[in-house]
Amino acid sequence: MFDNYAFTVAERFLRYVRIDTQSDPQSKSYPSTEKQKNLGRLLVEELKTMGLADAGLDSYGYVYATLPANTSKHVPVICFCSHMDTAPDCTGENVKPIVHSNYNGGDIVLPDDPAQVISPRDHPYLATKKGDDIITASGTTLLGADDKSGIAVIMDMVNYLVQHPEIKHGTLRILFTPDEEVGRGVDKLDMARLGADFGYTLDGGELGSFEDETFSADAMSVTFHGISAHPGYGKDKLVNALKVAAHFIDALPKDEWSPETTDGRYGFVHPVRVSGIAEKVTVDFIIRDFITAKLKAYEAHLQDRVEDTLKVFPGATAEVTVTEQYRNMKDVLDLHPQVTEYAVEAIGRAGVTVHRSSARGGTDGSRLSFMGLPCPNIFTGEMAFHGKHEYVSIQDMQAAVRTSVHLAQIWEERS
Ligand SMILES: [Zn+2]
Repeated sequence: MFDNYAFTVAERFLRYVRIDTQSDPQSKSYPSTEKQKNLGRLLVEELKTMGLADAGLDSYGYVYATLPANTSKHVPVICFCSHMDTAPDCTGENVKPIVHSNYNGGDIVLPDDPAQVISPRDHPYLATKKGDDIITASGTTLLGADDKSGIAVIMDMVNYLVQHPEIKHGTLRILFTPDEEVGRGVDKLDMARLGADFGYTLDGGELGSFEDETFSADAMSVTFHGISAHPGYGKDKLVNALKVAAHFIDALPKDEWSPETTDGRYGFVHPVRVSGIAEKVTVDFIIRDFITAKLKAYEAHLQDRVEDTLKVFPGATAEVTVTEQYRNMKDVLDLHPQVTEYAVEAIGRAGVTVHRSSARGGTDGSRLSFMGLPCPNIFTGEMAFHGKHEYVSIQDMQAAVRTSVHLAQIWEERS
């Protein structure tokens, strides 16, 4: 089916990653950074060139487009989704992608900062990619394979289907979102405009990986109020909120609860930000577990630590707020088993072994699943994301293109 197909995924990827689309967690606007629209505009243009006449970018930075059905069967509308932004953790300005053709299995030294070495010792997956064509950044930026690999894969899937009208499929909705990395990827999504029944995000790692389970996630914010007084005359009056907060953080357990000491199916509470002055300090946490009910238990534990801390600092007060972030998509996907079943079959038809896994994080798909669009996550090959050692194999991306085409076809066959 793909023997004579000239894949466009790598060429597209190399163009998309040069466009800086870093999102900003401190911004209050939608999208969080206007520059994300630069990629959005390019994608709309390319979609229109491929004949997707309704392709459009809205003011919030979402790209919507439709590849119309070419079958008379009634097939559910399937959405293929990726995010355009890159992580705030590492700069995405002036990304210079480098193709390491026929990778030799050794260390990859990044030329713009030779101290940056991607070694198969630290990246066991890379060790399995000998002979592949590997794309990296140049040493001073992230690459942006998370998630421009997914965008390039979806664009190439569209390109393939447009060139091969003999492959039957239902209506396919293309969706590119902003601000996934700052947790707001679907805040302004227009579900009516999207009008899809089921979806897939293309935002996964290793070849063949398929995620139909994610963390459930809350954010918790603890604000300590001290008592301010002139420090020259503060004896027996002043209570310093900075010291209260420091005590509280130090009292967190070291060997459990923490992302640095847990993996597999264990969850955690993780302080991510401290802000304030002597009078008032806020400590922000993220709270994660696969079992939604466990979030409440973590929150109760944290609340207990707050109470313990206040006993040590008479006069100090605290307020705690909890915000729901996203929920484990498995709760929804279990109700629609065909979504997973067809994806697993598509990966197999692409000649790839499936690895079912659980994401120790969330995806746009976690929230989409609870907004009425059951939406698991398919691999693209993106690895070591959010840092300068990020890399992706061109052959992995091509396998994701084949998987996506097969998936569209399977939905038509089974309808
Ligand atoms: Zn991502």
